[in-house]
Amino acid sequence: MAKILLVEDNEMNRDMLSRSLKKRGFEVVMAFDGKQGVEMAGEHAPDLILLDMSLPVMDGWEAAQHLKSNDATKQIPVIALTAHAMAGDKEKAMEAGCDDYDTKPIDLKRLLGKINAWLENSTMRSPRPKLPSEK
Ligand code: MN
Repeated sequence: MAKILLVEDNEMNRDMLSRSLKKRGFEVVMAFDGKQGVEMAGEHAPDLILLDMSLPVMDGWEAAQHLKSNDATKQIPVIALTAHAMAGDKEKAMEAGCDDYDTKPIDLKRLLGKINAWLENSTMRSPRPKLPSEK
């Protein structure tokens, strides 16, 4: 099952999202700030990253730039999450290298749609052999 790195400093959002994702069978690893997020992306090689933009230590925009300038992590789809649909936030996130964008409060159905679309997309780009347990 796909592994998702959730980079989120807000405990309530983190708990809600990680629980919802785990319930749907995703493996979830978590980071609490941008710097830790970048480090964990390198260590855990997640299939997708959910990146809050407003983060302590290193914000999401800077973290995205680090992720996308590193050969080991640049191919991982990054979905940016921001608290407000501020004018220009989407553009800023895309410029920083994020692949997609969603706004808080999280609409789980909408976000899952984006997650699944990106995961299917990466599977098509880099096919791996199917496991015996898969049909
Ligand atoms: Mn935040």
